[in-house]
Parts: sequence; structure tokens; C-alpha cells
Amino acid sequence: MSVIIFRSSGQSSSGESGKIKAMTSPKDILRDAKRMLEYYQALGFDRLPVSTKAFLNTGVVSSGAKYERLQAVRAEIGDCQRCKLSKGRENIVFGVGNAEARLMFIGEAPGKDEDIQGEPFVGEAGMLLTRLIEKMGFKREDVYIANIIKCRPPLNRDPEEDEISTCRPFLDKQIEIIAPEFIITLGRIALMTLMNNNKIRITAARGNFFEYKGIPVMPTFHPAYLLRNPKDKWLTWSDVQKVLERMESTH
Ligand code: URA
Repeated sequence: MSVIIFRSSGQSSSGESGKIKAMTSPKDILRDAKRMLEYYQALGFDRLPVSTKAFLNTGVVSSGAKYERLQAVRAEIGDCQRCKLSKGRENIVFGVGNAEARLMFIGEAPGKDEDIQGEPFVGEAGMLLTRLIEKMGFKREDVYIANIIKCRPPLNRDPEEDEISTCRPFLDKQIEIIAPEFIITLGRIALMTLMNNNKIRITAARGNFFEYKGIPVMPTFHPAYLLRNPKDKWLTWSDVQKVLERMESTH
């Protein structure tokens, strides 16, 4: 790996045994900033590869204690062969987003696109979820997104009980580490699994707060259902409004 060192124009290179002299003039700072921008431009960037908003508003995304602990859970999963889904998968879809998120979304299982890319909710349903997140005033990287199970079931069939019970402990650990203030479950399977209740009905439950280990849970429709039934999108919008209202009142 090559390392590039930018020498500040206020920095002496001779006779200082490597000591760095503090930059004093704003002119020096501007000149150095200009050089750095020119360097990025020469590399082909048309803007700096950093999201200022993510930096300022959400703080830690890819470092910090919670992130490290999530990485340890991912390492524990390893090249998982614990259930039969391992045979047909391309990638384990662990989860994505901000380890410090106040809000966590939980879906069912990766589909084809997610299996290929190794990231949850990146297909058509994922695009709808991203639009919902943005309409709520967040970016995808502000929240955390995971699934009940981490490998794609063949032909997107419902996950089976043995698959859920094998994978579930990893989701529980993710929730425990992130400790979100709110969870939104997407669809019937996510709700039934998180609540350990297979009698629960999404149509009756959605829009009402439940609780998982003290965390308020709002069930709503799965985005794939909403793609098939766009007339119900307003119901999901009203469900997430309830979360937003509570989030505002607790901050
Ligand atoms: N559906 C889900 O439940 N999860 C995904 O990641 C994608 C589609």
C-alpha cells in the first residue's frame, strides 16, 4: 500500500528532525486545502469522498465501540453453515447502517438482489424502503437495517422454523448492541418472529406499538407488499408518523 504525505507549506522540512511546525497563516491553510482539492480532482473525484451530513448528524458510522461489537458478531457468524440456507446463498446479508442508530428496521430475509450484493433491502422493495426512510427525514446511513434471517431462502419462500431459530440469536445480539430507541418491523414474518407470536396478524397489529425488551416496536407492511398494493402506502406512512412523533417527544 502506498502512503501519500501532504506537506503543509507552513511545515519545515529541514533541520527539524521530523518535528512539525504549526501552521500559522490562513493563507497557508487555504493553499494546502487547494492543493488537496487539486489532488482529489486529479484522482477523478468531483467532490470530497465524505458525507458532511453523515459526519455531523449521525456521528459514528464505521468506528466506535458499538461498531466493533457488531463486527465481532459478524466474525462469529463467519462462513456460516449452521442451516440449510448456506447451500444456496451467495452472500451472508448481515445488516447495514449506523451502529449508533436511534431507529432500526427489521425485514424478513434477503432476496435475490440482496444475496448478490450482501446488503439488505437493495432491490425494488429496498428502493421503496429507502424512499420511506428519506421521507421520514433520515438517510439510509442514519438508521440500521437488518433481517430476521441472513441468507436468502430458495425462490424467496418464507423462512422455515429451524432457519429462524438458528439465525435469530444473531439478530438479538445486533439489537442488543445497537440498542435503538425504536424498531419498525416490516411485514408479518418480522413481527411474528420478533414478538415470538405466530398468531399475530399484521393487518390488526400495524399501527400499534408493541415492545421488545423495553424497545417500542411499530409493525408496518413489508415494502414488497406495498409494491403490490400501493393503495396501502398511506397506512405505512401513518404508522411511521407515530414513531416520528414519539422520537420527537423523547429528544
Ligand atoms: N425483503 C426483506 O425482507 N429483506 C430484504 O433485505 C429484502 C427484501
